[in-house]
Amino acid sequence: MKFRAVYLTIATGSSYSEDEDRSEVTDLNQARDWAERAIKDFNAVVLPHERQGVVRVELLPDASDTHDWVKTSLETRSTGIVTYDTFKCNKCGITGTKYGSAPIGVDEEYKGIDWSFCSRVPQLLKDLEKRQKKRERRKNRVRMR
Ligand SMILES: [Zn+2]
Repeated sequence: MKFRAVYLTIATGSSYSEDEDRSEVTDLNQARDWAERAIKDFNAVVLPHERQGVVRVELLPDASDTHDWVKTSLETRSTGIVTYDTFKCNKCGITGTKYGSAPIGVDEEYKGIDWSFCSRVPQLLKDLEKRQKKRERRKNRVRMR
């Protein structure tokens, strides 16, 4: 499984990240353990001021779980300042926009979910919809009083 570990040099407070691809790691807890062990081994052989800590660990999607973006704009459009194209994922259906040479970013309505894993998006969208409905119901109840 692929994951990104963010490390920090304790003496200086500067951080950096490293991407790993370890077949023995199958979930986030194991990824955290892996990073903690790597840092423990590292700290055992360096000078005190070089010691590091793990800031955070996040899973990265593997090649089979990334979005399959298909361009939906017939021609490149322009905001007047920058050109852009619109996209839709063939697998999960979320939409995104690519401005200039920047990578594709998801559209505003998906900003509330972690959309980095394509296979998780349908469930996350259902959860998001449920939360929005609940919020609306609560709003309506307040209005009725
Ligand atoms: Zn997708």
